[in-house]
Amino acid sequence: MLMVATGVVTMKPMWTSTFINGVPQDTNEENHPRQVHQACFSKVKPTKMPDPKMLLWNEDLATELGLEIDPEVWSGNTQIEGMEPFAHCYGGHQFGTWAGQLGDGRAISLGTLTKDDELFEIQLKGSGVTPYSRRGDGRAVLRSSLREFLCSEAMYHLGIPTSRALSLVSTGEHVLRDILYDGHPAEEPGAIVTRVAQSFLRFGSFEIHASRSDNETLTLLLEYVLQQFFTHDNEVEVDCLNWLRCVGKETARLVSEWMRVGFVHGVMNTDNMSIHSITIDYGPYGWIEPYDLDWTPNTTDKFSKRYTFGNQPMIAMWNYARLLDSILPIFSLEQDKRPLLESFQIAFQWEHHRMWCNKLGIKDMTDESVVVIEECQRLLQESNIDMTIFFRELSYLNSASIDFIHKACYQPIEHMGAWTQWLQSWNEVTQNSPDKELMLSSNPKYVLRNWLAYEAIEHAEQGDLSYALDLYECLKNPYDEQEQYASRFYQKRPEWAEHKPGSSMLSCSS
Ligand code: AMP
Ligand code: MG
Repeated sequence: MLMVATGVVTMKPMWTSTFINGVPQDTNEENHPRQVHQACFSKVKPTKMPDPKMLLWNEDLATELGLEIDPEVWSGNTQIEGMEPFAHCYGGHQFGTWAGQLGDGRAISLGTLTKDDELFEIQLKGSGVTPYSRRGDGRAVLRSSLREFLCSEAMYHLGIPTSRALSLVSTGEHVLRDILYDGHPAEEPGAIVTRVAQSFLRFGSFEIHASRSDNETLTLLLEYVLQQFFTHDNEVEVDCLNWLRCVGKETARLVSEWMRVGFVHGVMNTDNMSIHSITIDYGPYGWIEPYDLDWTPNTTDKFSKRYTFGNQPMIAMWNYARLLDSILPIFSLEQDKRPLLESFQIAFQWEHHRMWCNKLGIKDMTDESVVVIEECQRLLQESNIDMTIFFRELSYLNSASIDFIHKACYQPIEHMGAWTQWLQSWNEVTQNSPDKELMLSSNPKYVLRNWLAYEAIEHAEQGDLSYALDLYECLKNPYDEQEQYASRFYQKRPEWAEHKPGSSMLSCSS
């Protein structure tokens, strides 16, 4: 039971039933799409897949969790002792509108591991229909599963809270998808990603019960969450308020971290917002290449522009307000919504300012630093400049010249004078000695550029995983120089990728 590694004694991970024993379960065991009431989950078995093959395996995470490589297990074809598969029931606001019951339509949790008092829910995505599949087939394609694998690991190694990816398994099945939503569906290879998080509970896990005025289930779920994931020294109402305040602050911090590296989630519906303030549900996400607050990778969002890079803080707060609307009424604490939202806002402003100071190597958060930051943002927005390359090159800067900027430009710069002036004010605010170490650890050299993910998919669909493997290796050390990868992965977006569907424009079809 005890494992001794480098002198530290830790407990061997064990399967636990805390969630399924702790909250109400669907009493109907039939697996067909339906409304599920007064329950937080349904027990359901993964569908058997014809020919599972292991494509990617996360050795480090597997070792940490004591899990073994086996395509039969990580396709859902067989379960190991202790696994008790289930699908979550949740609802959500999609694009600002209440969508009713959603739930795990194609995700199936195999169970939860416990290790040193931490929980790890292990979930397959793309493993067949569940009571929550609505009109969907419960499957996922290689394209989207590979994107989820690479991005969750890229985020983890960037130091950004996220679900992890354990494995990627091809199923041997073909799945029909209409990627462009233009009436031309085509067959694509199916694949399952296994992902891991404290839990896959979402804002929508609470909203569904509130929408049905089912206070009993809502309260049981809340008590479970408080007990498992939050210190509980007080009465439930006080703990609940403290927990909600934490969720707000941590969600604000998460979004600020997304902004630091140029990540755009793309579909910040409340059912895609983790109560643990980690990034979950990688779908039509994207990465900012030219710095642009108005950019959204999601084609469904092309006109409404709800989920753009720059809107993320505001949307996160809107989503948080929906969580508060679901929970505060249980204790008649509605009057606390405003202070909680204010606390979210204050947390975001502080985190965001701190984050920008770090990117620019500014040690003191002063009024002058605000001016330098805002001018930098304004010029970036105007100049069509690659965000990652700009900040990385700035972190190396050893001269008083702005010439490095040309390396990051997508078109000739019209505001060179303004940039030169900005450099001067940056030098003043940092007293000519920006904290380079801080900059290099805040400005990654390598991120999962949209076209790199696209290239990895193109190769993988032809049966060649070498590109994906190289990218995966490189993204494990995003702040290191890794010169061997620079000519391939530290590059501006090539011209072909600018309007390429599947690269800079993603649909929700997955
Ligand atoms: P997502 O956009 O992946 O966050 O999914 C939104 C909702 O649609 C969730 O309830 C998913 O489980 C469900 N869903 C997405 N794709 C499928 C599918 N192929 N089959 C069944 N349900 C799906
Ligand atoms: Mg989702």
